[in-house]
Amino acid sequence: MHFRRIRLAGFKSFVDPVELRIDDGLTGVVGPNGCGKSNLLEAIRWVMGESSAKSMRGGGMEDVIFAGTDRRPARDAAHVTLHLDNSSRRAPAQFNDSDDLEVVRHIERGLGSAYRVNGRDVRQKDVQLLFADAATGAHSPALVSQGRIGAIIAAKPQDRRLLLEEAAGISGLHVRRKDAEQRLRAAETNLTRLDDVLQGLS
Ligand code: ATP
Repeated sequence: MHFRRIRLAGFKSFVDPVELRIDDGLTGVVGPNGCGKSNLLEAIRWVMGESSAKSMRGGGMEDVIFAGTDRRPARDAAHVTLHLDNSSRRAPAQFNDSDDLEVVRHIERGLGSAYRVNGRDVRQKDVQLLFADAATGAHSPALVSQGRIGAIIAAKPQDRRLLLEEAAGISGLHVRRKDAEQRLRAAETNLTRLDDVLQGLS
């Protein structure tokens, strides 16, 4: 699945709505210090379901909302919209009914953040799995931020394995395995309870 366009509004330093086209192949973001290169990368990770405020260089998730400057007041909300090309139909079944996917995440002060895919409200987990299956999750090695190469070289083998799993698109399987194990445990508890009830009846 290719990223086609990204639209930001009220996100960190991108206070006014801005839309950027993302072409095939390698995309580099260049510009002077402080112009918002890292903020842009963070916007992509955020819309893909990043849940750690720390990895967004903030104390809390609301820190992604434009905080104001000497000349402009702070905003109360931030929106990021990512358009994906799903013509290869690799999206999970629930999203696989169109060639284009529009993933939106928005956050409002005091109200938290929510997600929509093609206009439908979805859970954070659904969005995370959508990208994990496409090998482009929020921690994907396809997003190379400053210092990332050095960090990968110095990473412990376990951390490098996580990177490889993300690149192979199998990290979503771990989430599903955890879900399945939880359901299995719940079923086992129910069976034990059923045994108790049956013994009480006999
Ligand atoms: P460098 O090359 O120095 O790493 P960069 O191009 O990656 O810089 P960013 O780190 O993306 O730049 O952007 C930093 C700018 O974003 C700073 O001017 C900072 O004040 C601004 N900024 C970050 N968060 C917010 C926010 N919530 N509201 C308003 N501005 C913000």
